[in-house]
Amino acid sequence: MSEEIDESSDEKLPAVELPKAEWDSAMLNLAQSQFLSAAQKMGLDENIRDRLLFPQRTMIVSFPCRMDEYSEVETVFGYRVQHVLTMGPTKGGIRYHEDVNLGEVAALAMWMTWKCALMHLPFGGAKGGVRVDPRQMSRPELQRLTRRYTMEISSMIGPDKDIPAPDMGTNAQTMAWIMDTYSQQHGYAIPEVVTGKPVVLGGSHGREEATGRGLVYLIRESAEHLGIELNKATAVVQGYGNVGRHAAHFLHELGVSIVGISDVSCGLHNSNGLNLQNVDAWLEQNGTLQGYIEADEINNQELLELECDILAPCALQNQITETNAPYIKCKILAEGANGPTSLEADGMLTERGIFVLPDVLGNAGGVTVSYFEWVQNTQEFSWTLEEVNDRLHKILVNAFHRTLVRSQRDGIDMRTAALIEGISRVAEAKLLRGVFP
Ligand code: NAD
Repeated sequence: MSEEIDESSDEKLPAVELPKAEWDSAMLNLAQSQFLSAAQKMGLDENIRDRLLFPQRTMIVSFPCRMDEYSEVETVFGYRVQHVLTMGPTKGGIRYHEDVNLGEVAALAMWMTWKCALMHLPFGGAKGGVRVDPRQMSRPELQRLTRRYTMEISSMIGPDKDIPAPDMGTNAQTMAWIMDTYSQQHGYAIPEVVTGKPVVLGGSHGREEATGRGLVYLIRESAEHLGIELNKATAVVQGYGNVGRHAAHFLHELGVSIVGISDVSCGLHNSNGLNLQNVDAWLEQNGTLQGYIEADEINNQELLELECDILAPCALQNQITETNAPYIKCKILAEGANGPTSLEADGMLTERGIFVLPDVLGNAGGVTVSYFEWVQNTQEFSWTLEEVNDRLHKILVNAFHRTLVRSQRDGIDMRTAALIEGISRVAEAKLLRGVFP
């Protein structure tokens, strides 16, 4: 019998977009290539190398989400990936984005492993994601989606197993719904199942702004190392969301002039420095940066090529590639986003003498304060904002200098040095635990 599709047939094709090549992702390719390159430079044991190339556990779920129009039920795909279970519970954010697939989530989970190990946190890496465009969804739709996704992955998560947090497209409210759904299943409140919660539900002071704050602590160390005076410096920040907006504000507090920012709608350029209070007021009223008048409107590609001392990509992956790397004009590339720089671009930036604060170091402030939140929850004790920021500063500065020393001693770039710092700790733990059975 012929299996060809009869195009004249009235039979409707499914509306669901079928995920064809889940592992086939540019981001996983990038994460694995970075890992393999670091593994080769450090002479990593081949058995350990092969164990770390793919995640230990992955879960793909598909589930129904009832939309506000009552007759409409969408089938949605979600993921949770645990890369390494050797170090303690796993930890990593949940991303809502229309392009999420297994490969992307696996890449993000792998970076989480190196990041936690570099910071000396007692976690392995994990990540989650749901393939939806949250900007097209109402609040009730997002709540139903979040609760059902939480139910679907609830066998994998838990305070001693795997602790989610916010990432792109999710926020403290999303974490509150996850915490509530998980707690309802168990019959009592379990705040420590997620971090990045609202403070009133056991969230930590300083968590919301921790990634941006941490990035700026590290920019300060980098500037000191390079002899750049921050109160005379200029910065461009791509992505004005959780990470980018806070980073821009903290840089501004240090006297840095913010000459460019962007979001998904457009980029803004003002060579005299943007007034961030006015930008925030505009954003509050209009939802996106587009139309803001005290700046020239440019696109995101033009934004990345602006003249500046500090360029902070804080939006999404694969922004600096071999195509635009020759035109990047900053002195410090401070990666707030995960995976913003391609492998080819990395080499070109190093050759051009641009100092790169790699993502596993640059945006580690978020998971560090998430760790503080988990510790406070398990001890049922709350720290002040000053305590949180002091501890964050110590941990980040320590990791920065360990990375810088390794980079200078071994003649390798900062990304490779940061990865080797993380990988060697995981490798040591794996060897000590041995092979079961
Ligand atoms: P977010 O959703 O709060 O903000 C993302 C920003 O990027 C928004 O301003 C959005 O408009 C903009 N954006 C989206 N698509 C864009 C495009 N194509 N071009 C330009 N701008 C675009 O997300 P976030 O939490 O700030 O995360 C941003 C990045 O930082 C991600 O790579 C994420 O993995 C990473 N990160 C976040 C955290 C955290 O604590 N939130 C921690 C570590 C790393």
